[in-house]
Amino acid sequence: MNTITMPELRYKADALAPVISEATVNFHYGKHLQTYVNNLNNLIPGTEFAESSLEEIVIKSEGAIANNAGQIFNHFMYFEQFSPVLTNPSQVLLDAIESSFGSFDEMKSKMSVAANTLFGSGWAWLCVDNGVLKITQMANADNPLRHGLKPLLTIDVWEHAYYLDYQSRRADYTTAFWNIVDWNVVERRLLKK
Ligand code: MN
Repeated sequence: MNTITMPELRYKADALAPVISEATVNFHYGKHLQTYVNNLNNLIPGTEFAESSLEEIVIKSEGAIANNAGQIFNHFMYFEQFSPVLTNPSQVLLDAIESSFGSFDEMKSKMSVAANTLFGSGWAWLCVDNGVLKITQMANADNPLRHGLKPLLTIDVWEHAYYLDYQSRRADYTTAFWNIVDWNVVERRLLKK
């Protein structure tokens, strides 16, 4: 069987504060993500997905398996894309962003608005659609892979992602979010075949 394992965090749990506190990282990564991983590892044995990659499960499954696999994939991307050290987008990434949105600031603004206006639980994504970058809103565990899009960057707007630190002020979270994005990770995702 293909067991899903927890990824190592690339930073210490307290390293993203004050944007994301140590307590939030511990609950979000240590409890919420761990639960999705445990659930999926309990759900897939004996199914057609027992030997599938996570991406295959995300794309092809339905119901509880799709919900848990989607949340695992989304959280793997989310926790991977942060750095306590400030980074800047490379020229190749900047060119892609500017040709699709006009400017870097316009992209950030559009993505924050998408995150702020998403009703209920879900994710705002920067993704690639046939060579063009675009912003999408996805509900619950949905994600770009299920729509043929390449995911580059995501904002988790489930309340568990920000409520300990920002309570109902989701917009404060989606503004502060930009201070911890590791643009090297985003570029790597863009250039990945
Ligand atoms: Mn989450």
